[in-house]
Amino acid sequence: MRGLRVAACGQMARLLIFLLALPALLRAADWPVTSVDGRDYVPLASVATFYGMGAPARSGAKIFAASGGGKSLQVEVDSREAIIDGVRHWLSFPARLANGAPAVSTVDLRRTIDPALRPDKVAGLRPVRTVVLDAGHGGHDNGARSPYGSEKEFTLDTVRRLRKKLEAAGLRVVVTRNSDTFIELENRPRVANRIPGAIFVSIHYNSADWKPAANGLETYAISPLGAPPSGQDVVMARDRETEAGHALEPVNFTLANTVHHALMGRLPNADRGVKRARFVVLKDAAVPAILIEGGFLTNPTEARRVADPKWREAYAAAIAAGILEYKRLAEQGVKPREKADW
Ligand SMILES: [Zn+2]
Repeated sequence: MRGLRVAACGQMARLLIFLLALPALLRAADWPVTSVDGRDYVPLASVATFYGMGAPARSGAKIFAASGGGKSLQVEVDSREAIIDGVRHWLSFPARLANGAPAVSTVDLRRTIDPALRPDKVAGLRPVRTVVLDAGHGGHDNGARSPYGSEKEFTLDTVRRLRKKLEAAGLRVVVTRNSDTFIELENRPRVANRIPGAIFVSIHYNSADWKPAANGLETYAISPLGAPPSGQDVVMARDRETEAGHALEPVNFTLANTVHHALMGRLPNADRGVKRARFVVLKDAAVPAILIEGGFLTNPTEARRVADPKWREAYAAAIAAGILEYKRLAEQGVKPREKADW
């Protein structure tokens, strides 16, 4: 721990706990931990230095931005929004000023920034043998609606296209439904939990009747234990409950992030980010699991896109490409392509 500079004993104790929980970061020269809102925060300048990004390009009171060595990080103080390597992310807790300098919570350093910047260092990645595809909704549950059709039809069509592409790449594919049938949410991840070497990918389309301008793609992984989902400001009692999905939380995030980079690199849609949620299909999955919202059926432009078989074909191809990048990462340690590489 060369270069360690910590002022107070209390801080030292917290620093050591933090480092012990983060063996991969043990060589960090300097991680001064400050308590903000009752949580441990580290300066973003230290984070940028550790990942080889050098001095921040902009480090005003509100915006912290650094890049270098093929990595980039932009964070806004008092916001949970972050741009990491060109795609949007939602932090568990807002960035804050700590001792006058922009800082980020150690939860976000461990659970989002580190796996996003070093996916090849994520522990628990395992070979992908089978992809379980989950077409959202079905039967009496139509999901969202556009003038051109129902979410349940578009998700099923997308899954069928995606299945063909993954099978052509040599993967085994299992689907939770292959017809217009209703399946309880709890039964969907169960299909994947029974299959060794499976990953679970749930396909949905979005809606916001009250806000037709809302558009863009978002990819979800389970929220870290003790952290609120994206879009929920405070920590609720349920956020502290351990779910099956938490055993693989950084792996889930890595799958989401890898697929999201492929979507953003290959499709024209806006980037709403890699988000966190406690959806049943993510909580109950004992295998790596994500849920993708492929655009808003309530937005005129995206509704037309989703209704176009050519767009759905391109969308399925982008998801397949992302899954194959994740497979290469998990099996060969090859760092996945980022948005700018597609
Ligand atoms: Zn849905």
